[in-house]
Amino acid sequence: MGASAAYHLARCGMKNIVLLEKEDFFGAGSTGRCAGGVRYQFSTEVNIKLSLASLPMLEYFKDEIGPDINYHRCGYLLIATNETDAATFKRNVELQNSLGVQTQLLSGDEIRSRLPMMQFDDAIVGTFHHKDGLVDPNSVVAGYISASQKLGVRAITNAEVTGIRVVSGEVKAVETTQGVVETHMILNAAGPWSSLIGGMAGVDIPVVPLRRQMFTTSRVKEIPDDFPFVIDFGQSLYFHRSGEGLLVGMSNPYQEAGFDQTVDEEFEFVNLEAAIDRMPLLERASRASHWAGLYEVTPDAHPIFGGCHVKGFTMCTGFSGHGFMHGPVAGRLMSEYIVDGKFSTVDVSMLDLARFEEGRLIKEYNVV
Ligand SMILES: Cc1cc2nc3c(=O)[nH]c(=O)nc-3n(C[C@H](O)[C@H](O)[C@H](O)COP(=O)(O)OP(=O)(O)OC[C@H]3O[C@@H](n4cnc5c(N)ncnc54)[C@H](O)[C@@H]3O)c2cc1C
Repeated sequence: MGASAAYHLARCGMKNIVLLEKEDFFGAGSTGRCAGGVRYQFSTEVNIKLSLASLPMLEYFKDEIGPDINYHRCGYLLIATNETDAATFKRNVELQNSLGVQTQLLSGDEIRSRLPMMQFDDAIVGTFHHKDGLVDPNSVVAGYISASQKLGVRAITNAEVTGIRVVSGEVKAVETTQGVVETHMILNAAGPWSSLIGGMAGVDIPVVPLRRQMFTTSRVKEIPDDFPFVIDFGQSLYFHRSGEGLLVGMSNPYQEAGFDQTVDEEFEFVNLEAAIDRMPLLERASRASHWAGLYEVTPDAHPIFGGCHVKGFTMCTGFSGHGFMHGPVAGRLMSEYIVDGKFSTVDVSMLDLARFEEGRLIKEYNVV
């Protein structure tokens, strides 16, 4: 979010932009640890509209920004194994189709014939959209950073924000481990850490860090090149191609909030067993790598865009585990908000911070 916003602000002609990163490289937070999935398949109009604006920006990224980000359109196949999910999936497809997203509804038999190497006897329905797929997150971050630097942005690593000076309700400066930056405008794009940054300015931001983890496997020769991003929705268990092997992840429903990013080996075992039940040939593969990262979860699984009661303090955070794909448009939207005072590309004005106090929550169902 920070890299994209810095680039889009600079492209609007904004000067004196400073991007601060506490780690020693950009993308060290959630973005660099994510699964790289990009999809149009959401359950709310605003999330579908964010995808409709953001995914084309990724498609044309190479032309506009430079690097090849490896956009692989393998499609997402979400599978429902209980009646509640099946009914919601049907409604989601109707909504997506009405907005021009040509998601298909598949029967259990169609799923089984598409995935002969998997065990889905209990699949009721599935939803498939051919333009969903995979993108390399680190190339996207690196692309935005170098493009923004060419436009004059100062992008500084090892610069941790440690305090925010607010005087008479207005932002005055940011304190960092490398000195003080005087400013009247802050964009909090600290992902899972954004409630800590909010706290420094006296702003309560309901974004909770939740550990999520995954592993990759050695070569699995039975997996075709066009293997989709498969999601066993009821178990929050997913599989997609990664090199010659697979990337497999699963969300722990009992994970407690916190900033721990070490792999929970006990839960990894649960994930391995569930994965082998669905794809028995994984018994012959070995684990190639594993890691954990943090989801940045809000109470309604939608992000927060815009300002608050502290003048000059804005935020773009809380994408709740599916934000990488919305990073391009989110940065553009924040540049519109900061420069023009309104969101033009997609109306996200309902996704403001005040909605939590005012009870205007909009629940997203397609959270993995
Ligand atoms: C395991 C996993 C799988 C995921 N899979 C997908 C997926 O397939 N598709 C998808 O779209 N999304 C996915 N996500 C979600 C996605 O990664 C996030 O929604 C997105 O990356 C959030 O971006 P961000 O810029 O808000 O946060 P981040 O990428 O975390 O960036 C915030 C940055 O702020 C820095 N920072 C924090 N505090 C400070 C401070 N005090 N001073 C200076 N810098 C600071 C951090 O170091 C970090 O680099 C996944 C996430 C995880 C954890």
